[in-house]
Amino acid sequence: ADIAMYEAKRKGKNQVVFFSGEQNDAIEYRLYVEQGLFNAIENKDLHARFQPIVDTEHQVVALEALCRWSSQDIGDIHPESFIPIAEETGMINALGLKMLKEVCIASVTLNEAGLGHIKVHVNVSILQLNSKLMVSQFLEYLHDFDVKPSSLVLEVTESAMHDIGTRKVLRELAKSGFTIALDDFGAGYASVSELGESYTSIIKLDKSLAPGEDKSSQKNIIAESIIQLCQRLDKAILLEGIETQKQAEFACQAGCHYMQGFYFSEPLSLTDVISFIQQK
Ligand code: C2E
Ligand code: MG
Ligand code: MG
Ligand code: MG
Repeated sequence: ADIAMYEAKRKGKNQVVFFSGEQNDAIEYRLYVEQGLFNAIENKDLHARFQPIVDTEHQVVALEALCRWSSQDIGDIHPESFIPIAEETGMINALGLKMLKEVCIASVTLNEAGLGHIKVHVNVSILQLNSKLMVSQFLEYLHDFDVKPSSLVLEVTESAMHDIGTRKVLRELAKSGFTIALDDFGAGYASVSELGESYTSIIKLDKSLAPGEDKSSQKNIIAESIIQLCQRLDKAILLEGIETQKQAEFACQAGCHYMQGFYFSEPLSLTDVISFIQQK
């Protein structure tokens, strides 16, 4: 029965795969991802979606590039299930460069559409930051597309900040003109002192901190206090995972500078996100 089910999935009967969690399925899924991802990076199966980031006036100021893998056999696969495998197998460097290329193209396209003020964020894995060589590699890519580092924001999760080597690379990237954002703050093993690092200028508060309905809830008090702390440290604050108008109001009242979430828009194709901005 298991094999029959796997065959059904493999033939693409389901849009999104839910493997049954049996060990064989897990192993097969992993093999599928390992083999497929390599090819996907080479062709168009791996691509970027762009989610708007807005200011307190709800004007789009930036886009976050999020990678998507559309597999012919099993439908759309989300990054949570393949980024870790890309990291373990070393494919993350090729994936990261592919995404960098996509954001360069996006930046050029925005510029041509008269939207050159809109920055493009890209997620960078901690494993891409393990050598200073990546800085020159990134700069070369940008140079080829005639994109300035100041047009891009590199999003790095807090785990990247624990290592002295990666800190050096981040400092180097900031010196080269990239803006560095600390992503998912409050989701992991955050040390509050990470907030004080001079190379990060944007703090993205994790969606787990997105406020609830009850204004005096513990969660909202924590979110408000972190926002105040970031303000005192002169950081720009972005609250992600905004899904309702109430949450957007809370974010503005609490002093966030930027917001992102399904309430404003889902991640869209480059063409769709540009028409979204132009219609606003
Ligand atoms: P992230 O960088 O924190 O990205 C935000 C995630 O939240 C995205 O999930 C986005 O689709 C989702 N999101 C946006 N608005 C809302 C909302 O209102 N509510 C909820 N519940 N979710 C919302 P996605 O695209 O599945 O990406 C997941 C994670 O995978 C990202 O988290 C990032 O850590 C990683 N990732 C995505 N693309 C890349 C990439 O190109 N390179 C690397 N290294 N990691 C990536
Ligand atoms: Mg991010
Ligand atoms: Mg995030
Ligand atoms: Mg995240």
